[in-house]
Amino acid sequence: MQDAPARAEGDGPWSQLIIRGVTLINGTLAPPIGPVDIVVEGNRISQVVTVGAPGVPIDARRRPVLKEGGKELQAEGMFLLPGFVDTHVHIGGSQAPMAEYVFKLWLAHGVTTVLEAGSMNGLDWVLKHKRQSEANEITAPRILAYTRFGMGASQPISTEQQTLDWVRQNAQKGADGIKFFGAEPQIMETAIKENKRLGLRSKAHHSQTYVGGWNVLHSARAGLNSMEHQYGLPEALFQDRKVQDYSLDYNYQNEQDRFGEAGQLWKQAAAPFSAHWNKVMDELIGLDFTLSPTLVIYEASRDLMRARRAEWHEKYTLPSLWEFYKPNRQAHGSYWFSWGTEQELNWKENYRLWMTFLNEYKNRGGRVTVGTDAGFIYALYGFSYVRELELLREAGFHPLEVIQAATLNGAQLAGMESDIGSVEVGKLADFVIAEENPLANLQTLYGTGAIRVTEDNRVVRVGGVKYTIKDGIIYDAKKLLADVENIVSQAKQSDQYVIKQPGDVD
Ligand SMILES: [Zn+2]
Repeated sequence: MQDAPARAEGDGPWSQLIIRGVTLINGTLAPPIGPVDIVVEGNRISQVVTVGAPGVPIDARRRPVLKEGGKELQAEGMFLLPGFVDTHVHIGGSQAPMAEYVFKLWLAHGVTTVLEAGSMNGLDWVLKHKRQSEANEITAPRILAYTRFGMGASQPISTEQQTLDWVRQNAQKGADGIKFFGAEPQIMETAIKENKRLGLRSKAHHSQTYVGGWNVLHSARAGLNSMEHQYGLPEALFQDRKVQDYSLDYNYQNEQDRFGEAGQLWKQAAAPFSAHWNKVMDELIGLDFTLSPTLVIYEASRDLMRARRAEWHEKYTLPSLWEFYKPNRQAHGSYWFSWGTEQELNWKENYRLWMTFLNEYKNRGGRVTVGTDAGFIYALYGFSYVRELELLREAGFHPLEVIQAATLNGAQLAGMESDIGSVEVGKLADFVIAEENPLANLQTLYGTGAIRVTEDNRVVRVGGVKYTIKDGIIYDAKKLLADVENIVSQAKQSDQYVIKQPGDVD
């Protein structure tokens, strides 16, 4: 994995930054309001001042005064949101071995904070980039490191003492939390509780190899902060079975079995709004348990061609990533051995039931966040974030609720809500600025923009994030994307690489 290079992008920080005349869409469910001037001093928001009404000239007398050495950013007609939080990421890997590529795709889509789920490049590597990002020595979102449980242990963890030792060492090393995949119940219980006692956070992908003995209810009761994906939740909702209806020749190492049958999980769970469904939901909400569904990472399962032919692949997907996505019995998440109508219909129904749960969870006061898990299954960094916003919209969230999930909810899950997640006096200067209203069309946030036909019948692209501001440093989002495009075209040049569809003959 290539380290991120020293920061060569971004303007600032300045002693004072004033963003002028923007329409604010906060993460708090407040409706849009503008024009406002937003003042940042010493990387903290010091004022949010309403300076007029739409469609009429701004009243100059109400405007905050620029101090010497300060910077003004004219943003009249634009929309400003809190910086986005992605609650489930991996910083590349062998399939995308350049931190710069991944970081720029995130920042270009407004992602200013990421929860790194597993520290797959090694905890030291992640912590080094976390520190460099904190100091803005590299161009990257702020990073929170959740170490994969048991990573680096000299032997597999099997006793209470080994569990305690590992959890304490992880905290000492400076990790922010633990990412679990599951373990024996006693070990899960001990690890989650000790980690919480030490003040760290925890998230779990409840692997199907363990959900028979420990599902999301067990985790929530022990004090886990969030569940990732869907696994372990349908299992908590089982009524007439203890285990999913595995086909009798199922093999977990055969990923078409694994993902094909995972697409039939929700229909085996208690029906929406049934007594058991209600009871489990209410208990999870009562435990302040967060859902990080990462709907986008499974979307290819319900519409493979959509994910595979997404218009950004040609310009922005690295050859190594494209090769990794290809149908392959050995690569993770490349389970397209014989994937067609029946599998996709199962997944469509699975999503419908899952989304019903997510929307009602939100309605009853439960916390749902925006996570992506990009880098697998045709899901590209950054672009997947916007797609996840659209999927929550599809689940029934109002666009303002989608933005809250993306910002304040993510900040709360990270334990950082006093610093980030909304635009309020005292918080850090992390913002997303867009020329189009994202509430009216979330697709305008894609780096590839949205299609518009002008009055004189020309077809144009509009949107894309205009500026991403992190710690008061202004990044030109389109420049970041141009850098990514350049990285990809250079990677293709050496062997004249062209993206081809699976099975295509030359
Ligand atoms: Zn993941």
